[in-house]
Amino acid sequence: MPHSVAASSRLSPGAAKDEPMEEDNGIPSSLDQAADADPDDDMDGEMAQDDAAAAPEAVNKEVNKEVSKEVNKEVKLDELFPDVDSDDEFPSSAPVREQASSSPARTASPTDATALKASDPEVMRSFYQRLFPWRQLFQWLNHSPMPTNDFGNREFAFTLQNDAYLRYQSFATADLLRKDVLRLMPSRFEIGPVYTTNPRDRKTLRNSSAFKPLAKELCFDIDLTDYDDIRTCCDKANICNKCWTFMTMAIKVIDAALREDFGFRHIMWVYSGRRGAHAWVCDKKVRSMDDQKRRAIAGYLEVVRGGAQSGKKVNVRRPLHPHLARSLDILKPHFQEDVLGVQDPWASGEQAEKLLQLLPDRTLNDSLRRKWDAAPGRASTSKWADIDAMAKTGASKNLDAKALLEAKQDIVLEYTYPRLDIEVSKKLNHLLKSPFVVHPGTGRVCVPIDTRNLEEFDPLGVPTVQVLLAEIDAWKDDGSAAAAAGEDDKNKDRGVSDWEKTSLKPYVEQFRAFVAGIMRDERDGRVRRERDEESMEF
Ligand SMILES: [Zn+2]
Repeated sequence: MPHSVAASSRLSPGAAKDEPMEEDNGIPSSLDQAADADPDDDMDGEMAQDDAAAAPEAVNKEVNKEVSKEVNKEVKLDELFPDVDSDDEFPSSAPVREQASSSPARTASPTDATALKASDPEVMRSFYQRLFPWRQLFQWLNHSPMPTNDFGNREFAFTLQNDAYLRYQSFATADLLRKDVLRLMPSRFEIGPVYTTNPRDRKTLRNSSAFKPLAKELCFDIDLTDYDDIRTCCDKANICNKCWTFMTMAIKVIDAALREDFGFRHIMWVYSGRRGAHAWVCDKKVRSMDDQKRRAIAGYLEVVRGGAQSGKKVNVRRPLHPHLARSLDILKPHFQEDVLGVQDPWASGEQAEKLLQLLPDRTLNDSLRRKWDAAPGRASTSKWADIDAMAKTGASKNLDAKALLEAKQDIVLEYTYPRLDIEVSKKLNHLLKSPFVVHPGTGRVCVPIDTRNLEEFDPLGVPTVQVLLAEIDAWKDDGSAAAAAGEDDKNKDRGVSDWEKTSLKPYVEQFRAFVAGIMRDERDGRVRRERDEESMEF
């Protein structure tokens, strides 16, 4: 349950107008948003409820049918072999288990890999065969080591190399998912909700309304392109460590709100492979939330509104909501250093005009404009200090000091508060790229971000798939001298998974620890429920 911040303040902090809220679940709600009738169904083709609305699938219906047929065949084949559910790590140094469906895997030799593009099918195949943490992904989505509907009825969507988009794929086990990925070699795959029935069976249901999304993690998506009007170092798909600090600020603020205001515990942040980050909130109580509750949380966290062309993007009411007061405390030092100092967003006269437009007193602005015109290129840090200094000189007789202070707070928020792609968070059936897939453009793996060392995360230091494959090779070379000494050493080598030989290791270990935490909570929850049921009987 959200703690008293949400319960005591009856308003969504980002909203300046009065909005009724739901009281029963304690989550601040914006009913004006709740009334929207699916306005976003055409977004990316990802949020559609059914085939009719999913244009990409309509185009690829035939492909999909073929795939389904084959997959069904494959499932039956696999049922004959009891070992497919084996809980073992995939011991990658041992020959990869080849099943009927795959053509002989021509694994790119790691030495070649560095010269190949990340999107090269052989590079991708090696990655999914040898490095992708399938077992951890399965346990993460399944919430238990034994296969359940949490995994089996979960939708996966594949983007194939020819850009065909296959929705409603589902798999009983990690091994079946892995096999299909190796067979289809998608450029990426996405994770959708758990449905009431197996997504592959949706068309066989007599009553089509019986096929409904039941549960999904609450997701957040932040992309640096949404900061293009305030970052000066890069634009579009480009990023550097200077503008990545915007992402650091965003993660701090959203993570604090989710934990402190809503009490969520299982939150994983994942680098999106190029210029952004995703959050997956995985607590059991979150996963079953309906769209209305998701919209309420999204509304609670959304503060910066409007695109690059809109005027003032932050309009928050006073007194500041505790979430915003806390956010300001987190963001102020970043504003001074990373925004004013590093980005210097108001260096030119034209840029400074943007600042003046956000300040309330015309007379004060005129004085500031004259001062800055006389000192071309005056740094943003100085210009920011000039505002209060000029105010103190009495430049404006009717200055409203409170209005000026509030305008300055709004400016800090406009230049630092997380800019969320909020549509991703609002719907149970939105799909989001899986952690650990490779970004085909950069070759970087979508690794989890360690929030305990958030400031140290370097997106440009995240390993690329080519480097990882080379690392496997290097590791073998290191061991070769020992291996040459005798067969025993060779056998020892078999126990080591390929990901352990690479710089992917800390990320997989972090993911594994995160997943273990979720499974522990779910198991304890089950034990508690069983105990309660038993005690009812007596
Ligand atoms: Zn940059």
